Amino acid sequence: MVKKTIIKIDYSKCHTGASTDPRDCRKCLHVCDPAVFLMHPTLEDHPDPHNPEIWRIDAIWLSKCTGCMKCVSICPEHAITVKPGDSLATMRGH
Ligand code: SF4
Ligand code: SF4
Repeated sequence: MVKKTIIKIDYSKCHTGASTDPRDCRKCLHVCDPAVFLMHPTLEDHPDPHNPEIWRIDAIWLSKCTGCMKCVSICPEHAITVKPGDSLATMRGH
């Protein structure tokens, strides 16, 4: 069975209303060469769906992740976990 890359963001640490708002940090967005991350507003947990003000980071393009771990190292909140999957071995020609 093919193991996919798993990237998790801990929203108790990085989220609008948490100790860091991603709009004030953005370090993971800048450091990731293949641009795996996306910062976006979300309607989740928001009382007014027409005025979303809750922002968060998501890892969207997982297949592009090279497993460099720069995002894990640079995140001041230690909010990012990366578990590289089999696609990285394929990308590297192993
Ligand atoms: S491990 Fe590297 S390539 Fe993968 S999401 Fe983090 S910074 Fe981007
Ligand atoms: S580096 Fe960490 S704290 Fe900064 S925006 Fe990314 S996930 Fe949030």
